[in-house]
Order: sequence, then structure tokens, then C-alpha cells
Amino acid sequence: MSTTAHEETLGFQTEVKQLLHLMIHSLYSNREIFLRELISNAADACDKLRYAALDNDALYEGDSELRIEITHDEKAGTVTVRDNGIGMSRDEVIHNLGTIARSGTAEFLKQLSGEQQKDARLIGQFGVGFYSSFIVADEVTVRTRKAGTDKAEGVEWRSRGEGEFTVADIENERHGTEIVLHLKPDAKEFADDFRLKGLVRKYSDHIEVPVRMPRIEAAKDDDGNEIEGSEVTTWETVNEATALWSRPKGEISDDEYKAFYKHVAHDFSDPLTWSHNKVEGKLEYTSLLFVPGRAPFDLYERDGSRGVKLYVQRVFIMDDAEQFLPLYLRFIKGVLDTRELSLNVSRELLQQDPKVEKIKSALTKRALDMLKKLAKDKESYQTFWNTFGTVLKEGPAEDYANREKIAGLLRFSSTHTDSATQDQSLADYVERMKEGQAKIYYIVADSFNAAKSSPHLEIFRKKGIEVLLLSDRIDEWLMSHLTDFDGKTLLDVAKGDLDLGEIEGEEEKKAQEETAKAKEALVKRVKEALGDEVQEVKVTHRLIDSPACVVLPEHEMGFQMRRIMEAAGQKVPEVKPILELNPEHALVDRLESAEGERFADLARILLDQAIIAEGGHLDDPAAYVKRLNALLIA
Ligand code: ADP
Ligand code: MG
Repeated sequence: MSTTAHEETLGFQTEVKQLLHLMIHSLYSNREIFLRELISNAADACDKLRYAALDNDALYEGDSELRIEITHDEKAGTVTVRDNGIGMSRDEVIHNLGTIARSGTAEFLKQLSGEQQKDARLIGQFGVGFYSSFIVADEVTVRTRKAGTDKAEGVEWRSRGEGEFTVADIENERHGTEIVLHLKPDAKEFADDFRLKGLVRKYSDHIEVPVRMPRIEAAKDDDGNEIEGSEVTTWETVNEATALWSRPKGEISDDEYKAFYKHVAHDFSDPLTWSHNKVEGKLEYTSLLFVPGRAPFDLYERDGSRGVKLYVQRVFIMDDAEQFLPLYLRFIKGVLDTRELSLNVSRELLQQDPKVEKIKSALTKRALDMLKKLAKDKESYQTFWNTFGTVLKEGPAEDYANREKIAGLLRFSSTHTDSATQDQSLADYVERMKEGQAKIYYIVADSFNAAKSSPHLEIFRKKGIEVLLLSDRIDEWLMSHLTDFDGKTLLDVAKGDLDLGEIEGEEEKKAQEETAKAKEALVKRVKEALGDEVQEVKVTHRLIDSPACVVLPEHEMGFQMRRIMEAAGQKVPEVKPILELNPEHALVDRLESAEGERFADLARILLDQAIIAEGGHLDDPAAYVKRLNALLIA
């Protein structure tokens, strides 16, 4: 590190170096996005100054007409983006343009593989930001000064994007930030008026701050004749320059919505859908909500960025205002503009304002309605579900009031298709319910295959009754909050007594009772042999091909949840399973005719097998193998 009085050279944070390297290589085919990123930052800087100046007009330094100016120099091969926004102090420059502050960055970078296509997709998910300058520039100079500071507090930042950057103090008449890109030899095409204008319109039409470009013309005398050798510059606003959400819906094209989404969400790809609403009356607000097409890398991070961009009467207040949407909708991006809040609202104040709760509940409805609409397009909805389904599954627990609505949006695997793709809704299920079927049946297991081949499904398969196959980690927790849908109870087929209700005829029930009676003695012997390994032994009618299965009492925590909690190091109250025997099975016949130690071994093997089939772990697997082998030899 070399330090002079005012100039120092610093190394980029490791993550930045990795990102720079990757970006330059994998985003090569999409390099024009650098302009979108720089304009997006400049617009944010203007928004921030406007907000700060609410309390202190002097910050404008007499220049309150916020704007972004783009110039180029074809000969020198440079493009310059300048704003008169908030600017940066020296410390901020070092921090903002030398590190990546977001949590989870290191984890994110680990996933990158060096495969261009895959990495380009991942980087898009991350948001490329300022560093995208280096896709087109081999040197970048940033000159900036924080609004309201002395002109001697200007800062110049320079870098070739190769691992280090230099910061120096400079004198700067203007507050705000100027970024000069020294274009790479093969990127000189961007130093072109026509090209730049096209890009501004393509990417930044929706930005409220005017983006201006100079038009240089020959000066004219009073008679309108051109004056030789004399030029005047007029500034022309190139973008639409009205806040997109404040324009009437009918006048906004899909492409404009998509471009706006990329700015708001710092995303790279198109959203799946959006919902734009202007509400007047008791509660006045405009919201523009988007469903992203892919998950941000920090979706499951506790402090991942979430929430909407908050404006109060078109004045930007804050990013990531998370108070307006529930956690289970944290993937939704967008803008909320309202007159219900005061301009000097802070995060702390948001937590106390009862209006916030009202807007939250309105936006939640909007978001759920938007998803319901999206669900009509099966393909898009599947993309949504595969990306965000497990997040939405947090809904019924978090938002009791909307639980029926959320339930309608859930998608499951089911024995109807036996496919791992979760694409069946509860409404689909209800439509297919058998005559006399009053309940919605489901099973929860550790994996899709374990669910699909669970012995508990045998009777259902035989009778052609559909069972939902659940295997996401969150599923048991979800189902503990989702007790009914459309007036029908949801029932875990591996818990409690199996009640098929009217699907079974009187005769069938009678036959079951008789069998149970006939096997009373066997049941007693098995219970004695297994002792307190089991809570109870019963004869079952849920099995067809398997000799035995284990069941938990109806209100006990299920096997999946137990294993998750145990894995997380939590103590789970011990519970003994109920062993159910299939009276029609040959192995059970064998058991019945066995005596003494052989009887005890067989009973134990049936129990252990049932536990294994459930995805459970045996306390003493070696003993099981030994017992089984002894029987195989005999
Ligand atoms: P992001 O915009 O997602 O925060 P960027 O890489 O685009 O990430 O920018 C990093 C940070 O640098 C910004 O958050 C901001 O603090 C600062 N910054 C970038 N450009 C400007 C600018 N024109 N004016 C003021 N600050 C800026
Ligand atoms: Mg940015």
C-alpha cells in the first residue's frame, strides 16, 4: 500500500476481485447493461439528496434541479455519467467502491463455477452494480463530493479493475458524482451519441430524474444565420423522466415495466408478472409489485434484503421497507408510494404507525391476488412455485387471516401423478375426491421417494384414493397450521387411527372388527415381546403388501419434524410408535406360529423394518442385521 498525504492505493476486497473477474468474462455478451447500472445509481443518489434536503435545503447548494448528464468523447474513447445527487465522502467512496457489503456474498461467490452461462445467470441474481463499468472500461475515474461539504472535500477514485484502486483528495466545485469510463479498445462503439441515446431509452425511460445529453449546434446570430466556428450546447432530456408508477397503467408498455423492475429489484432478468394499483379514498397509495423470475441469492438469509422501495408523495424515502409485506412474501419486489405517511418517517416510526399495518394488509391481498392470477398461466406459475414455493409455505403459519387464500396457491406432489414435480393444487385434489370421501389425505416424509413408497399409502392406492406427497423440510410445520381447506379436514395418513369414513362400507368395517378380534391373542403376545419399545400394537387395515408399519398418535409431532429438530440439536420429547400389523400378510402368519425367542426376534424385525420404511434410524442397526441374518440362515 502506498500512501502520500492525500493519495492512497488500496486493494479491493477479495469478493470484489472475484466478482470483477467473473463479470468481465461472463457478461461479455450483455455489456451494455453498464449504462443501466450507472444511471440507476445516479438516480438513487438524486433520490437520496432530495430526501436529505427535505430537512436542509442548503444541501442543494443552490442547484436543486436534480439531473443526470451523459456525455462522451469519441476521440478520447470515454463516456461520462454525471449526477448532482448526494455524492460520497472519502470513507464512503472507499467502502462503496471497494467492497461488497451485502451478507452472503462469499457464499454466493462459491457457487460460481467458471462456466460462462451458468455464472451469467447467477451474477444476474446478485445484481452487478457499479462494478459492471469494468465490462467495457479498462480504467474508471470517479470524481465526487458529498452534498453540503466544502469544495476541498472532493474525492477522486481511479482503478483499472485489476485488484486495486487509488483514492485522492481533490477540489471539486460540484457536489454529486461523475464517473468517467475509459473504454476498452473493443468497446469504443459506446462513445456514440446514437448508441447512448438508444440505451438510455431502453433502460432508463422510467427513471424520474431527467437523463440529459448535449446537443452541440452551430451558434446563430439574431437573424438565424449560423455563426462560423462558434458552437452552443443545448441539453436534451432523453428519457421520459416521470416516475413510472405515477403514470396511468394503460400508457405503460410491458417493456417499460420490465426495465423498471430491473432497476428496482437490481435484477437482471424479467419478472414473471406485476400488479400496478392506484388506490384512492380512505387509504391512498400507489403500489407496483413484481414477482421475480428467480430467487435472489439471499432469500433464506436472516438479514437478506427484502421489502419495497418506499416513496412518500413521490419522494424517495428508503429501500427495503420490509414493514409492508409479510415475511412469507419477501420475494416480492416493487414500489409503494403513499401520502399516508409523513416525509420524515423512519424505520422506527414505521414500526409504530397503525397506517403501516393497514397498507401491509392491503398489499398482502394485492400480492396474493397477483399470484392467483399468475396461477392461471400454468407454466409461469410452475416457475414461480419451483423458485418460491417453500417460502410461500411459511404463509399459513404467519398469516392466519389469509390462510385459505394461501392454501389455494400451494402446489403439491400427489399420488395422482406420482411425479416429484409439485404441481397439484388443493382445489385439483378436491375435484378428484371420491364419492363419500370427506377428508384430504397427505403423507409427510424426508424425501419424495420415501413418501411415494410409504407403506401407509397401500390401502389408498388399492382404493384409488389420492394422497398428497409432502417432503419439503417445512412441510410438517406447514401442515400443522393448515388444518382444512374448502371445509375439508386435512389428514396425515401416518398418524392416529385410519378413518376412511364412508369410503369403506359397513361390511368392510365389520370384517375388520372380526379380524381384530381373531388376532387379539397375537397382538397381546407381540406387545409383551416388544415391551415399551412400542406404545401399542394393533391390527391394521391400511396395509396391503407390507407386513407392518409404525404410526404416531394423532396429535404427536411427526417423524419428519422430530428428525429436523434433533438434527438442529434440540431436545424432542420421546414418543413410542404404535405398531400396526397386517393380518393378511404371510410374515404375520409366520409370526403367529412362532414360539419363544424366534417369536421375539421376528416381532422385533417387523418393528425395525417398519421404522426403516418410515425413514427412521434404528438405535442398534447391527442388532437388526444380526437378527435378520440369523433368520435368513435358519
Ligand atoms: P447498489 O446500487 O446495488 O447498492 P452498486 O454497486 O451499484 O450497488 O453501488 C454501490 C454503492 O456505491 C451504492 O450503494 C452507493 O452507495 C454508491 N454509489 C454508486 N454510485 C453512486 C453515485 N452516482 N452517487 C452516490 N453514490 C453512489
Ligand atoms: Mg446500483
